[in-house]
Amino acid sequence: MANLILPNLKMKKIPLLALALSISISIFSNQPMNAQCRQLKTPAEAREFNEVSKYSEMVEYIHQLDKSSDILTVEKIGESVKGRDLFMLKFSDSDFGEDKRKIRVLIHAQQHGNEQSGKEGALLLAQELTKPENAYIFKYIDLALIPQVNPDGSELNSRRNGNGQDLNRNHLIMTEPEVVALHKIFDRYQFEVTMDVHEYYPYGDTWKNFGYRTNSDILVGFNTHPSIPESIRQYQQKKIKPYYSAFLTSRGVSNAMYSPGGPPEQDYIRYSTFDINDGRQSYGIQNTFSFIQEGMNGVDALVDNLEHRSRSQFFGMLALLRFVYENHSEMKALVAKERRIENIAVSEVPLQMEHFPDGTRLELPVYSYASNRDSVIVVNDFRPVVKPTLTISRPCGYLFPKSHQDLIDWAFRHGLEVKPLKKDKNIMFEQLIINKIGSIDFERDTIAIPQVSVQKIEPKSINLEEYIFIPTSQLKGNMLITAIEPQSELGLATYSQFAYLMKAKSIYPVIRVMSSR
Ligand SMILES: [Zn+2]
Repeated sequence: MANLILPNLKMKKIPLLALALSISISIFSNQPMNAQCRQLKTPAEAREFNEVSKYSEMVEYIHQLDKSSDILTVEKIGESVKGRDLFMLKFSDSDFGEDKRKIRVLIHAQQHGNEQSGKEGALLLAQELTKPENAYIFKYIDLALIPQVNPDGSELNSRRNGNGQDLNRNHLIMTEPEVVALHKIFDRYQFEVTMDVHEYYPYGDTWKNFGYRTNSDILVGFNTHPSIPESIRQYQQKKIKPYYSAFLTSRGVSNAMYSPGGPPEQDYIRYSTFDINDGRQSYGIQNTFSFIQEGMNGVDALVDNLEHRSRSQFFGMLALLRFVYENHSEMKALVAKERRIENIAVSEVPLQMEHFPDGTRLELPVYSYASNRDSVIVVNDFRPVVKPTLTISRPCGYLFPKSHQDLIDWAFRHGLEVKPLKKDKNIMFEQLIINKIGSIDFERDTIAIPQVSVQKIEPKSINLEEYIFIPTSQLKGNMLITAIEPQSELGLATYSQFAYLMKAKSIYPVIRVMSSR
């Protein structure tokens, strides 16, 4: 009876008055966060950040928050290798994902188990967002927050998961249950904005010998893969970056662009990778606003300076949410436009790329070991632009042989759409012959890449019953091409599981389908 009258009450507070008064005391004010905190403390916060939150404490904490808030629903989204439940915190003032006017945002942290401040920052964020005075932001935003992707690694403070795999190199082959869970969620809600939260380790020997190290509390990285539309990449650089940076600076959080490589004079510096096997680019290539946030690791990678690290991560996530709140309709419209099939279907698809200079020099904020002070160094060999060095004309799809169960399983893990293919005079089939294996430089690694020749095959010589057809006219079309083409430097064949595909003097088992229309 009670359930019929009050279906979703769960004994929660309904913060109507607080909601009405929200503007002046909200998270968007400049008040230090400490002054606003008055509710449930995160497990690390309750111990004054002398220890990180353990998995069991985190689970208890998020369920307590769930009970106290109307805005939050905690959902299990999968299990780690060692059987720990993975949780998503859904923040919404309506049925999550159902109101198509709202923008959908996904933030996840701690794919790397030894990057603790991402999880701690996410738990601080959850605390903040369940305050009644902040509920108004969910008028325009549905937020999914996954504070910990890799609980098995976290409990041991180790980077990798329970299978010894690096989850943030697994988004293309997708062999690990934690990454499969992430992409299932992404596919279910088709988030328009994502942020993947990490930590960087600035204390390495190469830079130390150079006399400096990166010293920003927060580094942020954007999409760089050239298949991701220019409009999305430019919007990130020109609109989001200055806003995000100013938001952090005004709260005492130093910040810069994520720029690996170097040290200067020894090697070039670039804007991180364009590989689509990480959290950011794997969503980005589905035409998503997609970010990586890197907090600064502690010297001991665990509790050193943990409170400042965690609060810096928290402010970075808030900065993004605040920008999205203020610009939700513009961002939503841009993603909707770029996700139209005709905009996804670029005619020339890059398979190999390199980092290039654009004439700008980088002013990199650093710490000087000699003077024990913050400083700035100017980097002359800065290569912020990624340009294709090898492209192909867009196929309209691929025939996957049913005899290759590993490839079929891979396609299904990605939820790729399969269609029937009818023979048609405008459809041509191309078989790829691997002639010999060469090598190219990929972000300072040498990787094997085949030399390929193309042979047209007569439609009548193909038995379509033996294949499944996967079209490229889908949201994951550019991912599909990048993964399947044997000359792609980011392709499946560059992973040990699929290296057998790249044998000299062999026929590549997947057939390209081209359309003359
Ligand atoms: Zn990381």
